[in-house]
Amino acid sequence: MNKHIEPRVTLLGAGPGDPDLLTLKGVKALQTADVVLYDALTNEALLEHAPAQAIKVYVGKRSGEHSHSQDAINQLMIDYALNYGHVVRLKGGDPFVFGRGYEELDFATSYNVPVSVIPGISSSIGVPGLQQIPVTHRGLSESFWVITGTTTNGQISGDIYQAANSNATVVILMGLKQLSKIVEVFKAVGKAQLPAAVVQNGSTETEKLVISTVENIEARVGEEKIKAPALLIFGEVVSLHPSFKNVIKQYAAIS
Ligand code: SAH
Repeated sequence: MNKHIEPRVTLLGAGPGDPDLLTLKGVKALQTADVVLYDALTNEALLEHAPAQAIKVYVGKRSGEHSHSQDAINQLMIDYALNYGHVVRLKGGDPFVFGRGYEELDFATSYNVPVSVIPGISSSIGVPGLQQIPVTHRGLSESFWVITGTTTNGQISGDIYQAANSNATVVILMGLKQLSKIVEVFKAVGKAQLPAAVVQNGSTETEKLVISTVENIEARVGEEKIKAPALLIFGEVVSLHPSFKNVIKQYAAIS
């Protein structure tokens, strides 16, 4: 090989799905990529920013499908960096919000491969925001929690119990399968009437939104056939969504 190789890795946040939600810095990184390793939750349209000759490798791990283990991805990233130069590791949302980004950073650093990080719009804030649901709002919510619904041991996170007891807006990622358990947690602390929303595929053409209350959210999610990827939002801020008034009307009609 006559080209001088300068191995480096860019951990790049791709945003929640809409390819226009990538940062300008992200576009510039892709333009100088020799290799792009991309995940299931990143939009393939983003690959068009990379040079035609760049190697593009899908390393996704859609649930139930284990094409690449995290170890394999780490190794691939280093092998490509050492052999080709600039590896852009394109990850859904922000690399450090349940993205295992630090594991990749750590692995690359252990090989003395320099890493730079380009944050992305996390679905946890961006997807509620696109629905005009603010995660904080003066007088309604002073903080927000972003929690995983599924921990490595398959249980719901203990933080959900604490968050349900707080006044914070609670955003839960990877929580759709655990929805009934999560609903029970909120009900157990007297929050059956708390506004709740579920957004599937936020910022994409297949986006779907369900707005309800803790008590009825699971039934509505079933009716609308909501599928992953989806996130859950629990909190008074959900009542700011225009369609929440229909939820109130439905109650009025029933009682
Ligand atoms: N690093 C990502 C999150 C990775 S965990 C980020 O910052 O957004 C993957 C989970 O994020 C999914 O299971 C889902 O709960 C949520 N998610 C990611 N993209 C989403 C989208 N466009 N709409 C709804 N939820 C999304």
